[in-house]
Amino acid sequence: MDLDGFEIEAIGRNVAKVSYATSLQKKGVLISTTEHLLSAFIGMGLDNAIVELDNLELPILDGSARPFVDMILGAGLRQQRRKRAYLKILQQVEVRDGDKFIAAYPAPGYSVAYKINFAPPIGEQAFEIDLSRDLYRSELAAARTFGFLREEQAMKNMGLIRGASEENVIVVTSDGVKNGPLRFSDEFVRHKVLDLIGDLALLGKQVVGRIVADRAGHAMHTALVSRLLKDHSLWEETTEPSGLVQESTPELTALTQTSQT
Ligand SMILES: [Zn+2]
Repeated sequence: MDLDGFEIEAIGRNVAKVSYATSLQKKGVLISTTEHLLSAFIGMGLDNAIVELDNLELPILDGSARPFVDMILGAGLRQQRRKRAYLKILQQVEVRDGDKFIAAYPAPGYSVAYKINFAPPIGEQAFEIDLSRDLYRSELAAARTFGFLREEQAMKNMGLIRGASEENVIVVTSDGVKNGPLRFSDEFVRHKVLDLIGDLALLGKQVVGRIVADRAGHAMHTALVSRLLKDHSLWEETTEPSGLVQESTPELTALTQTSQT
């Protein structure tokens, strides 16, 4: 398909319908499953990149962000002269939907605490991380997406997970993981953190604050993005986030454009 260089900015304004994955939409063009690539960008501290696609869905690859991280490292990063801009949370904001919860609180760095509670065999898992480039690579990037076998047909019927297979999705059945071994014993909740970081990338800047999520998902993640974008009194844009380890880091941009096929 040829859309003649049509561009969609990965920002909150362009978030489209949200179910199993996050999609961006502008003028009728819908790009889906953007969260793993955007998560890798934030995880690696990359602010500026142009992503060329010849498809309306990002490649699922192995279901994690690791292949994107490897490509970014392979291409290399370049420091830009301009200082990196952050979105610093000034006031707490909490979003609830039934037993689902997500919140952002003022904090010196970017940290995420996530809890999930799925049917067995996943059950309850919790994971917490103070984000840094090294920890993103070692603790989050490799965590793969997952799905319950009973939902597989339903998702295919909805036209989702077209490229999904046992090579790129952890398939969970009531008996356990069908295509093990897992990369981490708590790979499920780690993947949710990876997704959350990718969805919050739609704020357009790296967050300075503490994000807490309980049984959330893409809809809750993007609800938090919308709340923040709607109410500018909750945050400020700053290039000097006090207390942050990588204080006033210059922007990084990808040396080579990441091209996906
Ligand atoms: Zn995901």
